[in-house]
Amino acid sequence: MSERNFIGGEWHDPASGAFDDVINPATGDVIAAAPASNAADIDAAVAAAKGAFGAWSSLTPRERSEVLHKVADRIEENIEELSRIECENVGKPVSIVEFEMDLTMDNWRFFASAGRFLEGKAAGEYLDGYTSFTRRDPVGVVGSIAPWNYPLNMATWKLGPALAAGNTVVIKPSELTPMSLLKLGELVADILPPGVLNIVCGDGPNAGVPLVTHPDVAMVSLTGSVGAGISVAKNAADSLKRVHLELGGKAPVVVFDDADIGALVECLGENSFYNSGQDCTAPCRVIASPAVFDDVVTGVTEAAGGLEVGDPMRETTEMGPVISDAQLERVSGFVDRARGAGAEVTVGGKRLDSDGYFYAPSIVIGAAQDSEIIQSEVFGPVVTVQRASDDELIAWANDVEYGLAASVWTKDVGRAMAASAALEFGTVWVNDHIPIVSEMPHGGFKKSGYGKDMSMYAVEHYTEVKHVMVKH
Ligand code: NAD
Repeated sequence: MSERNFIGGEWHDPASGAFDDVINPATGDVIAAAPASNAADIDAAVAAAKGAFGAWSSLTPRERSEVLHKVADRIEENIEELSRIECENVGKPVSIVEFEMDLTMDNWRFFASAGRFLEGKAAGEYLDGYTSFTRRDPVGVVGSIAPWNYPLNMATWKLGPALAAGNTVVIKPSELTPMSLLKLGELVADILPPGVLNIVCGDGPNAGVPLVTHPDVAMVSLTGSVGAGISVAKNAADSLKRVHLELGGKAPVVVFDDADIGALVECLGENSFYNSGQDCTAPCRVIASPAVFDDVVTGVTEAAGGLEVGDPMRETTEMGPVISDAQLERVSGFVDRARGAGAEVTVGGKRLDSDGYFYAPSIVIGAAQDSEIIQSEVFGPVVTVQRASDDELIAWANDVEYGLAASVWTKDVGRAMAASAALEFGTVWVNDHIPIVSEMPHGGFKKSGYGKDMSMYAVEHYTEVKHVMVKH
Protein backbone atom coordinates (compact mmCIF):
# COMPACT_ATOMS: atom_id res chain seq x y z
CA MET A 1 0.00 0.00 0.00
CA SER A 2 1.42 3.41 -0.99
CA GLU A 3 0.32 6.35 1.10
CA ARG A 4 0.18 9.99 -0.06
CA ASN A 5 0.53 13.44 1.47
CA PHE A 6 -2.63 15.27 2.62
CA ILE A 7 -2.42 18.84 1.31
CA GLY A 8 -5.27 21.35 0.93
CA GLY A 9 -7.83 18.62 1.63
CA GLU A 10 -6.55 16.36 -1.17
CA TRP A 11 -4.13 13.45 -1.46
CA HIS A 12 -0.91 14.03 -3.42
CA ASP A 13 2.07 11.91 -4.44
CA PRO A 14 5.39 13.37 -3.29
CA ALA A 15 7.15 15.69 -5.74
CA SER A 16 10.15 13.34 -5.71
CA GLY A 17 8.00 10.35 -6.73
CA ALA A 18 9.92 8.40 -4.05
CA PHE A 19 8.52 6.43 -1.11
CA ASP A 20 10.07 5.04 2.10
CA ASP A 21 9.23 1.61 3.48
CA VAL A 22 7.20 1.55 6.68
CA ILE A 23 8.14 -1.41 8.89
CA ASN A 24 6.31 -3.43 11.54
CA PRO A 25 8.98 -3.61 14.29
CA ALA A 26 7.52 -6.80 15.75
CA THR A 27 8.21 -8.75 12.55
CA GLY A 28 10.57 -6.64 10.43
CA ASP A 29 7.95 -6.81 7.62
CA VAL A 30 7.26 -3.89 5.29
CA ILE A 31 3.63 -2.85 5.89
CA ALA A 32 3.36 0.22 3.65
CA ALA A 33 5.27 2.86 1.71
CA ALA A 34 5.08 6.53 2.72
CA PRO A 35 6.03 9.61 0.68
CA ALA A 36 9.69 10.67 0.84
CA SER A 37 8.76 14.33 0.64
CA ASN A 38 10.97 17.33 0.05
CA ALA A 39 10.84 21.13 -0.02
CA ALA A 40 8.41 21.20 -2.96
CA ASP A 41 5.81 19.24 -0.96
CA ILE A 42 6.37 21.48 2.06
CA ASP A 43 5.91 24.57 -0.15
CA ALA A 44 2.56 23.25 -1.40
CA ALA A 45 1.39 22.37 2.10
CA VAL A 46 2.42 25.73 3.58
CA ALA A 47 0.64 27.54 0.72
CA ALA A 48 -2.52 25.54 1.47
CA ALA A 49 -2.25 26.30 5.20
CA LYS A 50 -1.67 29.99 4.49
CA GLY A 51 -4.69 30.08 2.19
CA ALA A 52 -6.91 28.50 4.85
CA PHE A 53 -5.71 30.70 7.73
CA GLY A 54 -7.99 33.73 7.15
CA ALA A 55 -11.26 31.80 7.22
CA TRP A 56 -10.24 29.39 10.03
CA SER A 57 -8.91 32.13 12.31
CA SER A 58 -12.05 34.23 11.71
CA LEU A 59 -14.41 31.56 13.01
CA THR A 60 -15.78 32.24 16.46
CA PRO A 61 -14.29 30.10 19.25
CA ARG A 62 -17.61 28.28 19.45
CA GLU A 63 -17.57 27.46 15.72
CA ARG A 64 -13.98 26.15 15.88
CA SER A 65 -14.83 24.22 19.02
CA GLU A 66 -17.77 22.52 17.30
CA VAL A 67 -15.53 21.44 14.42
CA LEU A 68 -12.84 20.08 16.76
CA HIS A 69 -15.40 18.19 18.83
CA LYS A 70 -16.47 16.48 15.59
CA VAL A 71 -12.83 15.43 15.10
CA ALA A 72 -12.84 13.91 18.61
CA ASP A 73 -16.10 12.08 17.86
CA ARG A 74 -14.68 10.73 14.60
CA ILE A 75 -11.59 9.48 16.44
CA GLU A 76 -13.80 7.77 18.99
CA GLU A 77 -15.85 6.09 16.25
CA ASN A 78 -12.65 4.74 14.68
CA ILE A 79 -10.70 4.00 17.82
CA GLU A 80 -10.29 0.30 17.12
CA GLU A 81 -8.79 0.84 13.70
CA LEU A 82 -6.50 3.62 14.94
CA SER A 83 -5.36 1.34 17.79
CA ARG A 84 -4.68 -1.51 15.38
CA ILE A 85 -2.59 0.80 13.16
CA GLU A 86 -0.57 2.05 16.13
CA CYS A 87 0.05 -1.52 17.36
CA GLU A 88 1.21 -2.64 13.94
CA ASN A 89 3.39 0.39 13.15
CA VAL A 90 4.97 0.89 16.59
CA GLY A 91 4.81 -2.66 18.00
CA LYS A 92 2.63 -1.59 20.93
CA PRO A 93 0.96 -4.45 22.77
CA VAL A 94 -2.81 -4.44 22.33
CA SER A 95 -2.98 -4.67 26.14
CA ILE A 96 -1.58 -1.14 26.60
CA VAL A 97 -2.83 0.86 23.63
CA GLU A 98 -6.26 1.63 25.08
CA PHE A 99 -4.89 4.13 27.62
CA GLU A 100 -3.08 6.08 24.89
CA MET A 101 -6.12 6.19 22.62
CA ASP A 102 -8.40 7.28 25.44
CA LEU A 103 -5.95 10.07 26.30
CA THR A 104 -5.81 11.11 22.63
CA MET A 105 -9.59 11.43 22.46
CA ASP A 106 -9.69 13.31 25.74
CA ASN A 107 -6.91 15.64 24.57
CA TRP A 108 -8.96 16.53 21.46
CA ARG A 109 -12.06 17.16 23.59
CA PHE A 110 -10.08 19.29 26.03
CA PHE A 111 -8.53 21.45 23.32
CA ALA A 112 -11.84 21.74 21.45
CA SER A 113 -13.27 23.36 24.58
CA ALA A 114 -10.13 25.15 25.80
CA GLY A 115 -10.02 27.40 22.71
CA ARG A 116 -13.16 29.09 24.06
CA PHE A 117 -11.38 30.19 27.24
CA LEU A 118 -8.57 32.24 25.68
CA GLU A 119 -8.64 35.71 27.15
CA GLY A 120 -6.80 38.97 27.34
CA LYS A 121 -5.72 39.70 30.92
CA ALA A 122 -6.15 43.45 31.00
CA ALA A 123 -8.75 46.04 29.98
CA GLY A 124 -8.84 49.56 31.36
CA GLU A 125 -7.65 53.16 31.29
CA TYR A 126 -3.94 52.87 32.15
CA LEU A 127 -3.12 56.24 30.54
CA ASP A 128 -5.41 59.23 30.83
CA GLY A 129 -7.54 59.48 27.71
CA TYR A 130 -6.92 55.97 26.46
CA THR A 131 -8.53 52.58 26.88
CA SER A 132 -6.19 49.60 26.54
CA PHE A 133 -6.91 45.93 26.33
CA THR A 134 -5.01 42.79 25.41
CA ARG A 135 -6.15 40.05 23.07
CA ARG A 136 -4.68 36.75 22.02
CA ASP A 137 -4.35 36.22 18.27
CA PRO A 138 -3.28 33.03 16.47
CA VAL A 139 0.31 33.12 15.19
CA GLY A 140 -0.49 31.94 11.63
CA VAL A 141 0.82 28.80 9.95
CA VAL A 142 2.36 26.36 12.46
CA GLY A 143 4.88 23.74 11.35
CA SER A 144 4.69 20.68 13.62
CA ILE A 145 7.03 17.72 13.76
CA ALA A 146 6.14 14.53 15.62
CA PRO A 147 8.15 11.56 16.99
CA TRP A 148 7.51 7.84 16.65
CA ASN A 149 6.87 6.69 20.23
CA TYR A 150 3.22 7.84 20.48
CA PRO A 151 2.61 8.91 16.87
CA LEU A 152 -1.05 9.98 17.03
CA ASN A 153 -0.98 11.15 20.64
CA MET A 154 2.09 13.35 20.20
CA ALA A 155 0.58 14.74 16.96
CA THR A 156 -2.57 15.52 18.95
CA TRP A 157 -0.55 17.50 21.50
CA LYS A 158 0.65 19.69 18.61
CA LEU A 159 -2.56 19.87 16.55
CA GLY A 160 -5.12 20.36 19.31
CA PRO A 161 -3.85 23.64 20.82
CA ALA A 162 -2.68 25.06 17.48
CA LEU A 163 -6.01 24.52 15.75
CA ALA A 164 -8.08 25.52 18.80
CA ALA A 165 -6.27 28.88 18.92
CA GLY A 166 -7.11 29.53 15.25
CA ASN A 167 -3.85 28.56 13.54
CA THR A 168 -3.54 26.31 10.51
CA VAL A 169 -0.97 23.51 10.54
CA VAL A 170 1.46 21.57 8.39
CA ILE A 171 2.50 18.49 10.34
CA LYS A 172 5.22 15.98 9.58
CA PRO A 173 4.99 12.57 11.27
CA SER A 174 8.12 10.56 11.99
CA GLU A 175 9.30 8.76 8.87
CA LEU A 176 9.06 5.54 10.92
CA THR A 177 5.42 5.91 11.98
CA PRO A 178 3.28 7.93 9.56
CA MET A 179 0.31 5.56 9.42
CA SER A 180 -2.00 6.74 12.22
CA LEU A 181 -1.65 10.41 11.29
CA LEU A 182 -2.41 9.64 7.65
CA LYS A 183 -5.49 7.76 8.84
CA LEU A 184 -6.47 10.83 10.85
CA GLY A 185 -6.22 12.91 7.64
CA GLU A 186 -8.63 10.49 5.97
CA LEU A 187 -11.02 10.58 8.91
CA VAL A 188 -11.23 14.36 9.18
CA ALA A 189 -11.14 15.25 5.48
CA ASP A 190 -14.88 16.05 5.51
CA ILE A 191 -14.74 17.85 8.88
CA LEU A 192 -11.83 20.30 8.72
CA PRO A 193 -11.92 22.89 5.92
CA PRO A 194 -9.28 22.18 3.22
CA GLY A 195 -5.83 23.48 4.17
CA VAL A 196 -6.48 23.75 7.92
CA LEU A 197 -4.59 20.48 8.52
CA ASN A 198 -1.90 19.33 6.09
CA ILE A 199 0.16 16.17 6.53
CA VAL A 200 3.51 15.80 4.78
CA CYS A 201 5.54 12.62 5.32
CA GLY A 202 9.31 12.36 5.10
CA ASP A 203 12.48 12.49 7.13
CA GLY A 204 14.11 15.30 9.10
CA PRO A 205 16.70 16.57 6.62
CA ASN A 206 14.48 16.53 3.50
CA ALA A 207 11.04 17.42 4.87
CA GLY A 208 11.60 18.64 8.45
CA VAL A 209 14.29 21.24 7.68
CA PRO A 210 12.33 22.90 4.82
CA LEU A 211 9.31 23.14 7.13
CA VAL A 212 11.39 24.78 9.87
CA THR A 213 13.04 27.27 7.51
CA HIS A 214 9.96 28.12 5.44
CA PRO A 215 9.39 31.91 5.46
CA ASP A 216 5.60 31.56 5.71
CA VAL A 217 5.72 29.31 8.77
CA ALA A 218 5.29 31.50 11.85
CA MET A 219 6.00 28.94 14.54
CA VAL A 220 7.60 25.50 14.77
CA SER A 221 6.70 22.84 17.28
CA LEU A 222 8.80 19.69 17.65
CA THR A 223 8.60 16.63 19.86
CA GLY A 224 11.79 14.65 19.44
CA SER A 225 15.37 14.21 20.55
CA VAL A 226 17.60 16.94 21.98
CA GLY A 227 19.71 16.85 18.81
CA ALA A 228 16.69 17.49 16.60
CA GLY A 229 15.58 20.25 18.99
CA ILE A 230 18.91 22.04 18.74
CA SER A 231 18.83 21.78 14.96
CA VAL A 232 15.28 23.15 14.85
CA ALA A 233 16.13 26.05 17.18
CA LYS A 234 19.20 26.95 15.08
CA ASN A 235 17.32 26.74 11.78
CA ALA A 236 14.39 28.74 13.16
CA ALA A 237 16.71 31.48 14.39
CA ASP A 238 17.36 32.93 10.93
CA SER A 239 13.71 33.89 10.61
CA LEU A 240 13.18 34.38 14.39
CA LYS A 241 10.28 31.94 14.43
CA ARG A 242 8.65 31.04 17.68
CA VAL A 243 9.84 27.58 18.73
CA HIS A 244 8.15 25.00 20.96
CA LEU A 245 10.35 22.04 21.90
CA GLU A 246 9.39 18.87 23.79
CA LEU A 247 12.62 16.88 23.88
CA GLY A 248 14.25 13.94 25.60
CA GLY A 249 14.19 12.94 29.24
CA LYS A 250 16.05 10.89 31.83
CA ALA A 251 13.54 10.78 34.63
CA PRO A 252 14.92 10.16 38.13
CA VAL A 253 12.98 8.19 40.72
CA VAL A 254 14.17 9.48 44.10
CA VAL A 255 13.58 6.89 46.83
CA PHE A 256 13.94 7.97 50.46
CA ASP A 257 14.43 5.45 53.27
CA ASP A 258 10.77 5.70 54.37
CA ALA A 259 9.30 4.98 50.91
CA ASP A 260 6.62 2.33 50.34
CA ILE A 261 8.82 -0.08 48.38
CA GLY A 262 5.92 -2.36 47.42
CA ALA A 263 4.09 0.54 45.74
CA LEU A 264 7.33 1.71 44.11
CA VAL A 265 8.13 -1.70 42.63
CA GLU A 266 4.58 -2.10 41.33
CA CYS A 267 4.77 1.34 39.68
CA LEU A 268 8.16 0.68 38.07
CA GLY A 269 7.09 -2.77 36.86
CA GLU A 270 4.16 -1.20 35.06
CA ASN A 271 5.64 2.06 33.85
CA SER A 272 9.40 1.67 33.27
CA PHE A 273 8.80 -0.84 30.49
CA TYR A 274 5.56 0.62 29.18
CA ASN A 275 5.91 1.19 25.41
CA SER A 276 9.23 -0.70 25.70
CA GLY A 277 10.61 2.14 27.79
CA GLN A 278 10.31 4.46 24.79
CA ASP A 279 8.69 7.21 26.79
CA CYS A 280 10.33 10.57 27.46
CA THR A 281 9.07 10.51 31.07
CA ALA A 282 9.73 6.80 31.75
CA PRO A 283 10.97 6.12 35.29
CA CYS A 284 14.35 4.89 34.09
CA ARG A 285 16.85 6.22 36.66
CA VAL A 286 16.17 5.03 40.20
CA ILE A 287 18.26 6.67 42.94
CA ALA A 288 17.71 4.93 46.26
CA SER A 289 18.74 5.59 49.83
CA PRO A 290 21.19 2.93 51.17
CA ALA A 291 18.54 1.70 53.65
CA VAL A 292 16.22 0.53 50.85
CA PHE A 293 18.62 -0.04 47.94
CA ASP A 294 18.75 -3.85 48.20
CA ASP A 295 14.96 -4.20 48.47
CA VAL A 296 14.48 -1.93 45.46
CA VAL A 297 16.96 -3.92 43.35
CA THR A 298 15.39 -7.25 44.32
CA GLY A 299 11.88 -5.94 43.62
CA VAL A 300 12.54 -4.34 40.23
CA THR A 301 14.68 -7.26 39.09
CA GLU A 302 11.79 -9.64 39.78
CA ALA A 303 9.28 -7.29 38.17
CA ALA A 304 11.34 -6.86 35.00
CA GLY A 305 12.11 -10.57 34.77
CA GLY A 306 8.42 -11.45 35.12
CA LEU A 307 7.18 -9.36 32.20
CA GLU A 308 5.70 -11.19 29.23
CA VAL A 309 7.54 -9.94 26.14
CA GLY A 310 6.58 -10.88 22.61
CA ASP A 311 3.87 -10.65 19.95
CA PRO A 312 2.10 -7.29 20.50
CA MET A 313 -1.13 -8.77 19.15
CA ARG A 314 -1.31 -11.39 21.93
CA GLU A 315 -3.66 -10.17 24.68
CA THR A 316 -1.32 -11.20 27.50
CA THR A 317 1.82 -9.53 26.10
CA GLU A 318 3.07 -6.77 28.37
CA MET A 319 6.01 -5.49 26.32
CA GLY A 320 6.66 -5.48 22.56
CA PRO A 321 9.72 -4.61 20.46
CA VAL A 322 11.61 -1.34 20.22
CA ILE A 323 10.88 0.72 17.15
CA SER A 324 13.69 -0.23 14.77
CA ASP A 325 16.88 -2.13 14.17
CA ALA A 326 18.82 1.09 14.80
CA GLN A 327 17.06 1.58 18.15
CA LEU A 328 17.83 -2.02 19.11
CA GLU A 329 21.50 -1.38 18.33
CA ARG A 330 21.39 1.81 20.37
CA VAL A 331 19.81 0.17 23.42
CA SER A 332 22.12 -2.85 23.43
CA GLY A 333 25.13 -0.58 22.88
CA PHE A 334 24.28 1.39 26.03
CA VAL A 335 23.97 -1.76 28.15
CA ASP A 336 27.12 -3.37 26.71
CA ARG A 337 29.20 -0.26 27.35
CA ALA A 338 27.84 0.04 30.91
CA ARG A 339 28.70 -3.59 31.56
CA GLY A 340 32.17 -2.99 30.11
CA ALA A 341 32.62 -0.06 32.49
CA GLY A 342 31.89 -2.26 35.51
CA ALA A 343 28.12 -2.04 35.99
CA GLU A 344 26.14 -5.20 36.81
CA VAL A 345 23.08 -6.33 34.86
CA THR A 346 20.75 -8.10 37.29
CA VAL A 347 18.23 -9.19 34.65
CA GLY A 348 17.92 -8.91 30.85
CA GLY A 349 20.82 -7.22 29.11
CA LYS A 350 20.29 -9.06 25.84
CA ARG A 351 18.42 -9.07 22.55
CA LEU A 352 15.71 -11.67 22.17
CA ASP A 353 15.84 -14.17 19.37
CA SER A 354 13.31 -12.86 16.82
CA ASP A 355 12.93 -11.28 13.38
CA GLY A 356 11.51 -8.28 15.22
CA TYR A 357 13.45 -5.77 17.32
CA PHE A 358 13.10 -7.18 20.84
CA TYR A 359 15.30 -6.39 23.83
CA ALA A 360 14.78 -7.97 27.25
CA PRO A 361 13.59 -5.72 30.11
CA SER A 362 16.84 -4.89 31.88
CA ILE A 363 18.05 -3.62 35.24
CA VAL A 364 21.55 -2.15 35.57
CA ILE A 365 23.14 -1.42 38.96
CA GLY A 366 26.46 0.03 40.01
CA ALA A 367 26.83 2.57 37.19
CA ALA A 368 28.77 5.70 38.15
CA GLN A 369 26.93 9.03 38.28
CA ASP A 370 29.06 10.42 35.45
CA SER A 371 28.71 7.32 33.23
CA GLU A 372 26.98 7.34 29.86
CA ILE A 373 24.03 5.17 30.93
CA ILE A 374 23.19 7.56 33.78
CA GLN A 375 23.73 10.77 31.81
CA SER A 376 22.16 9.93 28.41
CA GLU A 377 18.68 8.93 27.33
CA VAL A 378 18.59 5.23 26.36
CA PHE A 379 14.93 5.27 25.28
CA GLY A 380 14.45 1.54 25.68
CA PRO A 381 13.54 -1.08 28.32
CA VAL A 382 16.51 -0.34 30.58
CA VAL A 383 16.37 0.93 34.17
CA THR A 384 19.39 1.88 36.26
CA VAL A 385 19.36 1.72 40.07
CA GLN A 386 21.93 3.76 42.00
CA ARG A 387 22.73 3.78 45.70
CA ALA A 388 23.07 7.35 46.99
CA SER A 389 23.39 8.82 50.45
CA ASP A 390 20.38 10.86 51.62
CA ASP A 391 22.39 14.03 50.95
CA GLU A 392 23.15 12.95 47.36
CA LEU A 393 19.65 11.90 46.30
CA ILE A 394 18.42 15.23 44.97
CA ALA A 395 21.83 16.39 43.71
CA TRP A 396 22.26 13.23 41.62
CA ALA A 397 18.67 13.48 40.33
CA ASN A 398 19.37 17.02 39.06
CA ASP A 399 22.82 16.18 37.74
CA VAL A 400 21.81 15.49 34.09
CA GLU A 401 21.21 17.80 31.14
CA TYR A 402 17.54 16.78 30.93
CA GLY A 403 14.65 18.19 32.97
CA LEU A 404 11.39 16.65 31.83
CA ALA A 405 9.97 14.58 34.70
CA ALA A 406 10.90 13.12 38.09
CA SER A 407 9.31 11.36 41.02
CA VAL A 408 9.98 11.35 44.73
CA TRP A 409 8.99 8.51 47.05
CA THR A 410 8.56 9.18 50.78
CA LYS A 411 5.83 9.11 53.45
CA ASP A 412 7.05 12.40 54.93
CA VAL A 413 5.01 15.30 53.51
CA GLY A 414 7.63 17.90 54.36
CA ARG A 415 10.35 15.92 52.65
CA ALA A 416 8.13 15.48 49.59
CA MET A 417 7.44 19.21 49.40
CA ALA A 418 11.10 20.14 49.80
CA ALA A 419 12.15 17.59 47.16
CA SER A 420 9.44 18.77 44.71
CA ALA A 421 10.74 22.31 44.99
CA ALA A 422 14.38 21.27 44.57
CA LEU A 423 13.94 18.94 41.58
CA GLU A 424 14.67 20.76 38.30
CA PHE A 425 12.04 19.00 36.21
CA GLY A 426 8.83 20.08 34.44
CA THR A 427 6.72 17.46 36.21
CA VAL A 428 7.30 16.02 39.69
CA TRP A 429 5.16 13.16 40.98
CA VAL A 430 5.03 12.24 44.66
CA ASN A 431 4.61 8.51 45.36
CA ASP A 432 3.72 7.74 41.75
CA HIS A 433 5.32 8.17 38.33
CA ILE A 434 3.54 8.61 34.98
CA PRO A 435 -0.15 9.71 35.31
CA ILE A 436 -0.99 12.64 33.04
CA VAL A 437 -4.17 14.65 32.44
CA SER A 438 -5.25 17.05 29.70
CA GLU A 439 -5.72 19.96 32.14
CA MET A 440 -2.11 19.95 33.42
CA PRO A 441 1.02 21.09 31.54
CA HIS A 442 3.69 18.71 30.29
CA GLY A 443 7.05 20.09 29.28
CA GLY A 444 10.71 20.31 30.10
CA PHE A 445 13.34 22.33 31.90
CA LYS A 446 16.96 22.50 30.67
CA LYS A 447 17.70 20.47 27.52
CA SER A 448 14.30 18.79 27.65
CA GLY A 449 13.05 21.89 25.84
CA TYR A 450 10.65 24.78 26.37
CA GLY A 451 6.95 25.42 25.90
CA LYS A 452 4.22 23.23 27.37
CA ASP A 453 2.02 20.54 25.88
CA MET A 454 -1.53 19.97 27.12
CA SER A 455 -3.35 22.43 29.44
CA MET A 456 -4.25 26.08 28.76
CA TYR A 457 -0.51 26.88 28.72
CA ALA A 458 -0.24 24.98 25.43
CA VAL A 459 -3.14 26.86 23.85
CA GLU A 460 -1.66 30.18 24.99
CA HIS A 461 1.72 29.24 23.54
CA TYR A 462 0.15 29.04 20.07
CA THR A 463 -1.03 32.68 20.30
CA GLU A 464 0.47 36.16 20.20
CA VAL A 465 -0.52 38.72 22.83
CA LYS A 466 -1.61 41.97 21.24
CA HIS A 467 -2.10 45.30 23.00
CA VAL A 468 -4.86 47.46 21.54
CA MET A 469 -4.87 51.12 22.70
CA VAL A 470 -7.84 53.34 21.85
CA LYS A 471 -7.60 57.15 22.19
CA HIS A 472 -10.81 58.73 23.48
P1 NAD B 1 13.97 12.39 16.50
O1 NAD B 1 14.54 13.62 17.07
O2 NAD B 1 14.82 11.44 15.80
O3 NAD B 1 12.81 12.75 15.48
C1 NAD B 1 11.65 13.48 15.87
C2 NAD B 1 11.04 14.11 14.65
O4 NAD B 1 11.91 15.15 14.21
C3 NAD B 1 10.89 13.16 13.46
O5 NAD B 1 9.69 13.48 12.78
C4 NAD B 1 12.11 13.50 12.61
O6 NAD B 1 11.91 13.23 11.25
C5 NAD B 1 12.24 14.99 12.85
N1 NAD B 1 13.58 15.55 12.70
C6 NAD B 1 14.76 14.96 13.01
N2 NAD B 1 15.77 15.82 12.79
C7 NAD B 1 15.21 16.99 12.36
C8 NAD B 1 15.74 18.24 11.97
N3 NAD B 1 17.04 18.49 12.00
N4 NAD B 1 14.89 19.22 11.58
C9 NAD B 1 13.55 18.98 11.55
N5 NAD B 1 13.00 17.79 11.88
C10 NAD B 1 13.81 16.81 12.29
O7 NAD B 1 13.17 11.72 17.71
P2 NAD B 1 12.45 10.33 17.71
O8 NAD B 1 13.54 9.32 17.74
O9 NAD B 1 11.39 10.28 16.65
O10 NAD B 1 11.68 10.37 19.10
C11 NAD B 1 12.28 10.03 20.27
C12 NAD B 1 12.70 11.28 21.02
O11 NAD B 1 11.56 12.10 21.26
C13 NAD B 1 13.26 10.95 22.37
O12 NAD B 1 14.38 11.75 22.64
C14 NAD B 1 12.12 11.31 23.32
O13 NAD B 1 12.52 11.60 24.62
C15 NAD B 1 11.53 12.47 22.63
N6 NAD B 1 10.14 12.68 23.08
C16 NAD B 1 9.87 13.75 23.89
C17 NAD B 1 8.58 13.96 24.36
C18 NAD B 1 8.25 15.12 25.25
O14 NAD B 1 7.09 15.39 25.49
N7 NAD B 1 9.24 15.86 25.75
C19 NAD B 1 7.56 13.09 23.99
C20 NAD B 1 7.87 12.00 23.17
C21 NAD B 1 9.16 11.82 22.71
